[in-house]
Amino acid sequence: MQLKLLMIEDDADQRELVREIIEDHFGQNTVTCAGTRAEALQNDLASFDLILTDHNLPDGSGMDLLGEIVKRCKTPVIMVTGENNAEMAAEAIKKGATDYVVKVGDYMFTIPLVVEKNLTVAKLRHENETLRSDLEKALADVRLSLTRVEEMAATDPLTGLYNRRHFARVIEQLFSESQRHHFDLSAVMIDLDGFKQLNDTFGHALGDQLIVLTGQVIHANLRKGDVAARYGGDEFVLLLPHASDHEAEVVLDRIRFQFKEDSAKILKRDRGVSMSVGIGSTNTTRPVTADQLMAATDTALYAAKGAGRDRVSRATGAVRLQKIPA
Ligand code: GH3
Ligand code: MG
Repeated sequence: MQLKLLMIEDDADQRELVREIIEDHFGQNTVTCAGTRAEALQNDLASFDLILTDHNLPDGSGMDLLGEIVKRCKTPVIMVTGENNAEMAAEAIKKGATDYVVKVGDYMFTIPLVVEKNLTVAKLRHENETLRSDLEKALADVRLSLTRVEEMAATDPLTGLYNRRHFARVIEQLFSESQRHHFDLSAVMIDLDGFKQLNDTFGHALGDQLIVLTGQVIHANLRKGDVAARYGGDEFVLLLPHASDHEAEVVLDRIRFQFKEDSAKILKRDRGVSMSVGIGSTNTTRPVTADQLMAATDTALYAAKGAGRDRVSRATGAVRLQKIPA
């Protein structure tokens, strides 16, 4: 593609001379000329590869024109001026000029080289910006994929609740927080009653629907900060921070009631599916590890099943570490 340069210079002789020198170097018709600020601004400035501007123009200063050019486009601008003045050169560069050429001696013969250097710098800068934005986009994609992978690795696909592996990590964290900041933490284990029989009678797909429903009912009844996970099969676990065993029981009664009602609709019969629930709380069993809290909760669930199912059992009394035989 042919190079396009704009030269703003009010002195007609100089303009012609510099144009010839540039076109000898870069080819015919590369230079568009303007003799005044107004004439220069009539052009589509962004369409040029580079702009050369004089400092003193009949209808304004080149410094103001420079500011206007920089506002309108990203095209590199070289200020060409008779003012051999370091302060002015510094001001031009600060305002956005990419170079400064002083009109002394045979300065015009160096212009093609200065133009070439500025074009190379502009090209490199552009490539650099493109590379950086490509890299940033790629990094954002990687970050998003990583977040998705992490979410998937922590989630049970059927219910959308956390899985057992993630739960194990969360309970350690929440348990130590509850110890450090002295708040109650209740752990809950839920197991559907007679689920194997339901699977056999109504089919596995309907069994899956009941598991999905369990997840939905649990989710709908939790507070912000509560944690729910599918522990495996028809078993679910919850962590309710800032809830005593009694407060946890209130929540679980609501969950059991709603699940029974909704599961009856799915099975198209009067009788819904019941749940057995074990609750272990730091305020009653005073565990010193997360494992002890879960052991107390598991024992409570076992007690609920043993006492006839369809009920909540709360762990009571301190859980003691089993003595290792001597
Ligand atoms: P209990 O009252 O003692 O809990 O009896 P149960 O029949 O519910 O027995 P248990 O909890 O031991 O059995 C769970 C059954 O859940 C066993 C398995 O066939 C079934 N199951 C496990 N995972 C899935 C699943 O993803 N989908 C379906 N449909 N069934 C599952
Ligand atoms: Mg079961």
